[in-house]
Amino acid sequence: KDGTAGANEDINVQIEGVTKVFGDQESDEIVAVEDLNIDIRRGEFLVFVGPSGCGKTTSLRMVAGLETPTEGRIRIEDEDVTGYDPRERGIAMVFQNYALYPHMTVAENMSFPLRIRNYPDDEIETRVTEAADLLEIDDLLDRKPSQLSGGQQQRVALGRAIVREPSVFLMDEPLSNLDAKLRVQMRTELNEIHQRVGKTTIYVTHDQAEAMTLGDRVVVLNDGKLQQIGPPQYLYDNPVNRFVAGFIGEPPMNFLPVSIRKEDDGYTAVGEFFEFGLPTDVERAVDEWDGSLDSLTLGVRPEDLSDLSVLDEDEYTENSTLDAQVKVVEPMGSDKFLTVTSKTDEDTEFSARVAPESSVEPGEPISLSATLDKIHLFDDETGQNIT
Ligand code: ATP
Repeated sequence: KDGTAGANEDINVQIEGVTKVFGDQESDEIVAVEDLNIDIRRGEFLVFVGPSGCGKTTSLRMVAGLETPTEGRIRIEDEDVTGYDPRERGIAMVFQNYALYPHMTVAENMSFPLRIRNYPDDEIETRVTEAADLLEIDDLLDRKPSQLSGGQQQRVALGRAIVREPSVFLMDEPLSNLDAKLRVQMRTELNEIHQRVGKTTIYVTHDQAEAMTLGDRVVVLNDGKLQQIGPPQYLYDNPVNRFVAGFIGEPPMNFLPVSIRKEDDGYTAVGEFFEFGLPTDVERAVDEWDGSLDSLTLGVRPEDLSDLSVLDEDEYTENSTLDAQVKVVEPMGSDKFLTVTSKTDEDTEFSARVAPESSVEPGEPISLSATLDKIHLFDDETGQNIT
């Protein structure tokens, strides 16, 4: 759960009990990162994700050696590098602004890190050619950065990191300066490049979609603290708390207040405008929960709410439905995003992602059916997922 891998795994980078406090006086202390423990496996693509200010960049900068931990150790290749210079760590960083030299050609930009380390010319040429080949920029080698598109510049910045053959790549929002379409395209390319290069990569983003598509594992941070670490699909299916549940997935999970009523024939989650019969495994989780059952939060993802009118009768059960009022309809082609409100309380807004055949219009009533084995229950006080 704390992100440490098994003892036999091939570990490349270890973040051990790392805390970073900024500010000299107690009054202006900022705990940017608190007691972070992560073992990063060789070849793994690990993504740090979280809202602005959660400590992603600070974590990455401590691995890079650009920031010194207040407490804890950083190990690379089993060597304690906590006090080492960035240059001594066998890492290469790719930033969001690429930082290419405008007066140098692509080939010169890519050669630069090797040249300042006094590599022989033939070795430099071999490495630059190989990296350019890998990144499919071999026909751009004589151009200046100003003659390149944003995506091409980003590839050159990657190339400059690759030629150094580092043990670990560190990337801080490398795609954030690209327009939306190019960003999605580069995301796929980064995936491919990572598969070809096979090197450990630690990647920082605030974009949960980027984290989901790129990460072998994703680290969700909030307020300097690790919330959860795991494969993207696992985090989506099994968020440990309300924060992770709301952060992973787009549009975000809906949260609705409920209390649990126990009856002889099963348990019911009673909301303000719906009653859901709980599936057996949720009932079992409720039995094991020793906190209050009077004020919990039910979480249901928009994609787990369907328009009843386009379902067959055997596709839903009576105690899985709720009646709502449609406020906004956004057709996406493959599905429709609905913003709906409770029939009784216009302030209770939530969203549903329904089949494109759904023909509801704003202002109309709608009956929705929830996929009950996908719902979650959260403790109101701690936010912990009890299911
Ligand atoms: P963003 O996505 O906005 O870049 P982040 O998750 O990368 O955010 P960090 O840059 O790691 O967050 O910052 C974490 C916290 O530490 C923030 O509260 C930030 O203001 C603070 N912080 C970062 N660097 C410094 C610094 N050099 N001095 C003081 N406080 C800092």
